[in-house]
Amino acid sequence: MKQKKVLRSIASFILVIAMTFGVILGMSMGIVAQASTTTSTITVGGTDYTLFTGFTATDGTAVDNAFVYGNMVDGNTSTSFHAFTSTAYVEFNSDEPIIPKGYIFNSYSADYYKPTGWVLKDKANATDDWTTLSFYSGQTLSSGQEFQYACDNDGNTAYKYFRFEASNTANNIWLTEIRLYGSVPDVYYTHLTVKAATCTETGIKQDCYQRNDGKYFTDETGETELDESDVIAPLLAHTGVHHEATDTNIEYWQCSMCNKYFSDED
Ligand SMILES: [Zn+2]
Repeated sequence: MKQKKVLRSIASFILVIAMTFGVILGMSMGIVAQASTTTSTITVGGTDYTLFTGFTATDGTAVDNAFVYGNMVDGNTSTSFHAFTSTAYVEFNSDEPIIPKGYIFNSYSADYYKPTGWVLKDKANATDDWTTLSFYSGQTLSSGQEFQYACDNDGNTAYKYFRFEASNTANNIWLTEIRLYGSVPDVYYTHLTVKAATCTETGIKQDCYQRNDGKYFTDETGETELDESDVIAPLLAHTGVHHEATDTNIEYWQCSMCNKYFSDED
């Protein structure tokens, strides 16, 4: 029994080290850009809105320096995105759909490297086409580092995916952050795509929509509800591969899919 415990703690220790190294590696390479969205209140023209800070960056202009695109949506204005191109972009998404009514972007310098044009695009689902929410060109931004614009979203449409493009003719765009303000829809649906279950994650049996109360539907109208059992594919059993005891370890099984260790075949 003691040996099993030791084996398990060694396995957990290795896992923790591997995860820590993965995070450090990801951060140093600038590829992990997951920031969960935090909210606060902002008053614009006498109306209170929710200010959304920090998003998950999914794509952007690659740069030859440490100032990667993810820095623009990490909720931290002391990190920045610095591209030596005429147009630079970042694509990002919020944790949940939001109704954007405006945005705030920040420049690195109060005087230099600012865009003269920019576009904010959005879409509700990852597979939708982008629509343009806000577009400016030929601008000369005033001195200062924070620039706030209202969006034309009169229909109060909710979106989850965003793309911000900035441009200037100096081929030198340096920005620190973009935040959105607006509101959270009372009822919203998240699109679920078919995926196979694994031994660590349940799967999705059919493309459908999950409402924010947790219920499943065939579309975004909430008309035809689906049973959870028709949507969620249960976890698969682990696939234990047997390893004989040696001088240094007891007999154990390791799952060939998730690599977890087990002291018995099940
Ligand atoms: Zn497994």
